[in-house]
Amino acid sequence: MIIGSGPAGWTAAIYAARANLSPLCVVGIPKSDPSPVLPGGQLMLTTEVENFPGFPKGVTGPELMEHLQAQAERFGTRVMQDDVSECDFESRPFRLKTADGASLQAHSVIIATGAVANWIGLADEMRLARSGGGVSACAVCDGALPVFRGAQLGVVGGGDTAMEEATYLTKFAGTVHVIHRRGEFRASKTMQDRLLALPNVKVHWHQVVVGVHGVDRIEAVELEDVRTKARTRLALGGLFVAIGHAPATGFLRGSGVELDSKGYVNLRSRSSSTNIEGVFAAGDVCDSVYRQAVTAAGMGCQAALDSERWLAACGVH
Ligand code: NAP
Repeated sequence: MIIGSGPAGWTAAIYAARANLSPLCVVGIPKSDPSPVLPGGQLMLTTEVENFPGFPKGVTGPELMEHLQAQAERFGTRVMQDDVSECDFESRPFRLKTADGASLQAHSVIIATGAVANWIGLADEMRLARSGGGVSACAVCDGALPVFRGAQLGVVGGGDTAMEEATYLTKFAGTVHVIHRRGEFRASKTMQDRLLALPNVKVHWHQVVVGVHGVDRIEAVELEDVRTKARTRLALGGLFVAIGHAPATGFLRGSGVELDSKGYVNLRSRSSSTNIEGVFAAGDVCDSVYRQAVTAAGMGCQAALDSERWLAACGVH
């Protein structure tokens, strides 16, 4: 069984189905704000994907997910639109329950439920993120799009991700405006120094974004000084929200699967195995560092191969 339907889940499904493992992919149920979780994962919130190999002219996130699903189904992957809500990894085969009340069994499970970007939580932020209106939670995914070239771009956050994304955006932007709620960054000194040495960076300290303006595309944000409550308007052609991610591992609570302090699945080194034999993980649910569609897909492949070998060693397949 594969839980999750982003690039990691579908790639695991393609490999598992081609190995005649008869996979069932439990793809999730759409949920809405503040952090949308969608079948297909975070790419369903992206417009143009230009860095997934094999698409020289780019592909939209939803189209890419359709292709991956079709490829997985072509080899016999069964698809179930539901959420896994409980896992019993002590019984063999494993027993899982879904939000809609189904009871399922599996000899091996691949967890590929991904992570969701944290958003500020403003209605216009989400609307423009969904419609490709210049609000994004991934500069590496979207920053190189022509529409951002030479533009005034905002980055919200003060951690390593914000530093990395802002540094990346300086290659394309007119000016990168880093908007942070405190007077110092949380990020490592090296990454701060690298960013602050660049000529086209301006930091807006002690500021939070309280409004996003624009009809089809973002035009400006409303900033509020947390100390004085004074509001100012900052004209922007793009806004990148980099305030952390949350892995979708709530359903694993009590299952015995080992998570790290931030809730990501812990893997045994150099493999996709979790601490429970027969349970594997792939993609953003166990990766807070790379978080790319192509790295998630690669991890999905690894998990399917590890699962296949484990099942063969157990004599199940
Ligand atoms: P993070 O370290 O949790 O930082 C999140 C940042 O967003 C913080 O500065 C926080 O402000 C701010 N923030 C949180 N909620 C906010 C809100 N509602 N409104 C405004 N600001 C908000 O997350 P991250 O930067 O994504 O990093 C996650 C992990 O990955 C870290 O361990 C990091 O070191 C690692 N990472 C490493 C690299 C690298 O080494 N190349 C690159 C990226 C990430 P406060 O500071 O005030 O709390």
